[in-house]
Amino acid sequence: MKEAYQILNKTFGYQDFRHQQADIIQDILNNKDAMVLMPTGGGKSLCYQIPAIIRPGVGIVVSPLIALMQDQVDALTQLGLSAGYLNSNQSNETQRAIEQQLLSNELDLLYITPERLMSNRMLSLLNQSSISLFAIDEAHCVSQWGHDFRKEYQQLSILHERFPDIPRIALTATADERTRQEIIQQLDLHNAKTYINSFDRPNIHYQISDQTGKADLLKFIKNSHSDDAGIIYCLSRKRVEETADWLTEQGFNALPYHAGLNQHVREQNQKRFLREDGIIIVATIAFGMGIDKPDVRFVAHLNLPKSIEAYYQETGRAGRDGLPADAWMAYGLKDMMLLKQMIQGGDNEMQQRVSHSKLDSLMALCETTSCRRYHLLEYFGEDSKEKCGNCDTCISPPESWDATEASRKALSCIYRSGQRFGIGYLTDILLGKVNDRITKNAHDQITTYGIGKDLSVNEWKGIYRQLIAMGYININFEQYGALYLTDKARPLLRGEIELKLRKQSKKSAKKSAGKQKSALRDVDEELFEALRQCRLDLSKDEGVPPYVIFHDKTLIEMTRKRPSSLIEMGKIAGIGEKKLDKFGQQFLTIVKQFDIHPWFKNELSETINSTLELYLKNLNAQDVADTRELSLSTIYNHLSTAIKHEVIKLEEITEIKDTDIKQIEQAIELCAEGGQEGSKAVFEFLNEEVEYGIIHCVRARLDTIV
Ligand code: ADP
Ligand code: ZN
Repeated sequence: MKEAYQILNKTFGYQDFRHQQADIIQDILNNKDAMVLMPTGGGKSLCYQIPAIIRPGVGIVVSPLIALMQDQVDALTQLGLSAGYLNSNQSNETQRAIEQQLLSNELDLLYITPERLMSNRMLSLLNQSSISLFAIDEAHCVSQWGHDFRKEYQQLSILHERFPDIPRIALTATADERTRQEIIQQLDLHNAKTYINSFDRPNIHYQISDQTGKADLLKFIKNSHSDDAGIIYCLSRKRVEETADWLTEQGFNALPYHAGLNQHVREQNQKRFLREDGIIIVATIAFGMGIDKPDVRFVAHLNLPKSIEAYYQETGRAGRDGLPADAWMAYGLKDMMLLKQMIQGGDNEMQQRVSHSKLDSLMALCETTSCRRYHLLEYFGEDSKEKCGNCDTCISPPESWDATEASRKALSCIYRSGQRFGIGYLTDILLGKVNDRITKNAHDQITTYGIGKDLSVNEWKGIYRQLIAMGYININFEQYGALYLTDKARPLLRGEIELKLRKQSKKSAKKSAGKQKSALRDVDEELFEALRQCRLDLSKDEGVPPYVIFHDKTLIEMTRKRPSSLIEMGKIAGIGEKKLDKFGQQFLTIVKQFDIHPWFKNELSETINSTLELYLKNLNAQDVADTRELSLSTIYNHLSTAIKHEVIKLEEITEIKDTDIKQIEQAIELCAEGGQEGSKAVFEFLNEEVEYGIIHCVRARLDTIV
């Protein structure tokens, strides 16, 4: 493990292992199998990369997507490791060369697809090679119950039969209990320890609204993500193209991606998304599996995904770097109808049932009035706080209303008109519209005609949507979307139960995760832009995506800490030896060009920095408090925190005279000796003549965090 820590520090540039990384690595080093469930961005790769480096032989990584192997290999190469991949897009010559490297044990890691791994040629090559481990990435692909089922994954059990002594590690970011069991079964991982991490992605802000207008999407992007990279998912190719064109007209860099585009265009668009800053990809679900881009700042759904698993995986592509990101979704009645129709069009009855139940769970998430995150995590079998504070329902709780009467009208209208009509027509009856169809059917004679004038068309549609989502109503697609009642509807219709529904959302919740730059202060913006430009230039020289050089997180830390030497530079997370060597000087030169007052070389919160900025100008805590409309004690709190972190010196607080400092320090010590740690005792000891805030500042120096 000592070696593992060294590699973590020197090669990857990180201080400590996260989650259970250390235990997992230890297992593999001890020749044991492991099963790892970690959310996207949790750090799964290190779990096999580090043991592959330490153990003799090459680590074989099985991964379903060939398109992204290149980037993974590039990233490892930049770290000074020896890695390769094999896929059918390579020339024969290249493939032979990699195979040669494999045989002569020159590689740390080799990425291959399961199809390739199962080929006789490959198996025989592996027989002749020294192998350190097998890593099976995206392991949920073995599961038929899961949503990414791949036949070839099921054959991977032969690894165990053929190479019984080589440790295997299966990794996935999406697996409910049932999928987990299937992975263990199919891959024969009965002896593996299972490592389950929380699936929570606290940096993702969830927002779901029942509006489908493009205007809302535009507002969302403009307000929160005008320069950011994002993914927008649509259900159809047509909608993908329309949306991409429309966003382009609005001045964004939006590119389409779907299976109908020719391969060259598709690859080109994906490449631009990965290699340029601030590109928006508008895509069908054909896009995204294995996308490792860490700085995707938002994922928007313009249509409902098929299941919670799909929603979770797609939204999970946002914010892999741990910085704030948004998952935004707008859905409507039409989506729900379309998906239901698609499911009923399938021919396998068992599959239909699974799909229906998955869609129902997703709709329940959409219609919930409680915390989205709680609901999501509960679905994956995880307990969490009932309120996360970072989703739309937590931030502006939706109102519910007693919809018993209205629902009865809606159900009754279906019943009275013979359970043969769709929502549009039913709504017309409720509103008492006059038209030929109604007259011809004599539906202006039934008791529900015109009894719904107190609500609008949209409100009735919302009621029908929720009643369908809650299972009171079913849809008959063979009869052009006619609604009919389920057994569940009866007690409601008879007035035996009450029903509360969610109020239609009027406007989308204002708050979102906001800009990733929120981690930056105003004083950092210029430097950050310069560093980003430098990174972009280097990435072009090297032919790799910018994040392969450095992640945003690393650049942000650089702007906050302003390293003044290569040694300080090397302490920043994400800068290992190789990268320090290669890029350190160039970035250092830029940092030095943007001089800053020493007070601002800190990693304290934004509000503390605002206080420091004002204090530097006025040197008076009361003035700062007045300007910021905060209490004096809050300002002193900020100052004392800055002292504690040695960002400013106690002597720089002009309100405190040197002679006083001595006296206050003595008072603090004397009180502490008497067993009185609190500031109140000190305050009294000093005859109530010294402000609490000042006592805090003096105490802060005694507690400095070095
Ligand atoms: P996953 O495959 O689980 O989605 P990755 O392996 O791509 O996640 O890791 C996500 C990000 O977190 C990467 O940028 C990685 O370098 C970083 N990371 C992983 N482990 C650590 C760690 N121990 N300390 C700091 N950063 C880490
Ligand atoms: Zn919440």
